[in-house]
Amino acid sequence: MTTNPDDEVRVGPPKTSAVGIPAIRRAMQYSVSEMGVTRGAKTLHRLNQTDGFDCPSCAWPDPKAGDRSFAEFCENGAKATAWEATRDRVDREFFATHSVSELREQDSHTLEHHGRLTEPMYLAPGADHYTPITWDDAFAVIADRLRELPSPHRAAFYTSGRASNEAAFVYQLLARRLGTNNLPDCSNMCHESSGTALNETIGVGKGTVDLEDITEHAELIVIVGQNPGTNHPRMLTALEQAKRRGARIVSANPLPEAGLINFKNPQRVRGLIGPGTKISDRSLPVRVNGDLAMFAGVNKALLAREDAAPGTIFDHGFIETYCDGFDEACRAWRGLEWSDLECQSGLTRQEIEDFASDVVAAKSVIVCWAMGITQHRNAVATIREIVNFLLLRGNIGRPGAGPSPIRGHSNVQGDRTMGIWEKMPDAFLDKLRDEFGFEPPRDHGFDTVNTIRAMRDGRIDVFFALGGNFVAATPDTAVTEAAMRNCALTVHVATKLNRSHLCHGREALLLPCLSRTERDRQVSGDQFVSVEDSMSIVHSSQGRLAPGSELLRSEVAIVTGVARELFGEDLGWSEMANDYGVIRRHIEHVVDGFDDYEARVREPGGFTLPRGPHDSRTFATATGKARFTVNEPDAVTVPDGHLVLQTLRSHDQFNTTVYGLDDRYRGIKGGRRVVFVNAEDLAARGLVDGDLVDLVSVWSDGERHAKGFRAVAYETPRGCAATYFPEANVLVPLDSTALGSNTPTSKSLIVRIERSTPAA
Ligand code: SF4
Repeated sequence: MTTNPDDEVRVGPPKTSAVGIPAIRRAMQYSVSEMGVTRGAKTLHRLNQTDGFDCPSCAWPDPKAGDRSFAEFCENGAKATAWEATRDRVDREFFATHSVSELREQDSHTLEHHGRLTEPMYLAPGADHYTPITWDDAFAVIADRLRELPSPHRAAFYTSGRASNEAAFVYQLLARRLGTNNLPDCSNMCHESSGTALNETIGVGKGTVDLEDITEHAELIVIVGQNPGTNHPRMLTALEQAKRRGARIVSANPLPEAGLINFKNPQRVRGLIGPGTKISDRSLPVRVNGDLAMFAGVNKALLAREDAAPGTIFDHGFIETYCDGFDEACRAWRGLEWSDLECQSGLTRQEIEDFASDVVAAKSVIVCWAMGITQHRNAVATIREIVNFLLLRGNIGRPGAGPSPIRGHSNVQGDRTMGIWEKMPDAFLDKLRDEFGFEPPRDHGFDTVNTIRAMRDGRIDVFFALGGNFVAATPDTAVTEAAMRNCALTVHVATKLNRSHLCHGREALLLPCLSRTERDRQVSGDQFVSVEDSMSIVHSSQGRLAPGSELLRSEVAIVTGVARELFGEDLGWSEMANDYGVIRRHIEHVVDGFDDYEARVREPGGFTLPRGPHDSRTFATATGKARFTVNEPDAVTVPDGHLVLQTLRSHDQFNTTVYGLDDRYRGIKGGRRVVFVNAEDLAARGLVDGDLVDLVSVWSDGERHAKGFRAVAYETPRGCAATYFPEANVLVPLDSTALGSNTPTSKSLIVRIERSTPAA
């Protein structure tokens, strides 16, 4: 271990295997320290079980009912659960003792570690302490401020991916009943690029793959821009199953991530004391932002082989029957230069040709991806090129084949299905009108980036967040925090304190809600909620723990409470709050695919939503066919002396929640201000591993600075670097977004790395 004299970060060698005994030990330590032995054991026993509650962390699907193990969770699922089910409390005495300005100096980990919020709190104009407020008074404040707005479009309703289907549905109903489609969500910052590209090319904005396609059918699984070992750990179990029946895995990642190298399954003896399972058969060290060129290259290589032996490579029957745009795409691939593709992807032609050989040898191919693909300026084009790659060999709509964008937050996909989108199609809005008897607004609302712009420019007065940590999740931290302060009222529904509650409007409300683990009892009795995972399975979730405080309310109760204060009982808000089955009946009438919702969601394991491309090779695109597209390969232009930097999570982190200061798999302990850089790039700047450096991002409007990072010499392609968010979000320009999806480009920032200078 080397120790940096300037801070507590210790750096050791990165791991070459994920999970195993250390993961079990860490999960147990965490569970016991936050929940205690008995409460911890009881709670984890119900995590991801058919009669239990859904993991509040990622959206990886569960095995079928009957196939689940007694411990159907990973280290990070255990951490997320313990984090919410902690016995620590943040009560009125805490807020009386600690001012907002004092708390603002604390980091994200410390803030959330104080514990669960216990009662509604109010911050009056000019005050520096939150003080208790009753629920009725809190609802009255919100309703008054919303009524005073000269236009409903001066309010924005943000949703994090934790909200259940039921909460999300009543939330979008509240916004639209008010008269606005300003429904920014975390999806705008993660898989918006996937939704945009997939909707355009295959007519559905989601993946088309089931868990069994991975575990039982795929012959080749391609994993790009994704680090399952940290971000979707139980995916490793599925990949292990695939490997055991002979599937091949190709991964492309600028960092050699442990979970893509080897997996030690903690539920198998071989995983605990044996060598584990090798995951990637081929690892491609693609440059940051080089994935478009890589896929264009492999498509070009496949075309050359098809030209050499016509009818042997492409699935012409599929292409002719189901696709359009094939000839134009082929023309474009023929015109590409290998030298450009090599330079843009950072891969050699031979590496790409070898990848193409893997593809040709496989009868069925799945491509999985996550933020490493979606948060680039060319993200939509990259995903369209992935679709091209799949279409060429008919790898959509048959077992073991298809696109599989892996969602990061447990119900982010379901929230979008429920109507959390600033531009829901008219067909949805028509049904909403018919169901509730009011005319929903038709003008598109603000997405996340446009909400920040509007707040910054004084065009939003009321910002309401259903969960999440908006200022930590979003780009350009200084701009976003100032934008929040520009609002007249900020409202946060939350389980724990976070930085967004401390960057408030002139007035602020902090409304504590139940967590997934807790019992939700309403007038008609105990309630369950439902969620949708990454593979379009909708299932129930029901907590059983006693609520952390008698004053907590469910998200549904909070949203309908605001609505009732504003609109009376016009849409039957109390009925919905009293019995979530009423909400599900409305959903059944408004959202396609939810026929017989109540009965089907009560089935163990739930039900799968229809996906035309998967079910019947039907493509609801503009032409009714799957669409080949022409995507000019490019890569971000990096001026001399600069690097392209991606932000990423540590292993002790879920989105903006920081559970601890270690990143075990990358060899980091005790700190987060590190930047991973190729040793030769450090040397070229007169730097060595362990030096303290500052990061400077460059953009058309000037430079942004993040100071005091320990340089870590790391195996990554020349010209590339990586560091953790949310610390590095300060470097992401608000206006640097993906073409077509407006997703912040957090995975390809142009930066300089300089020897650290003391803060002015
Ligand atoms: S893989 Fe994801 S959903 Fe499953 S237990 Fe882990 S964090 Fe939770």
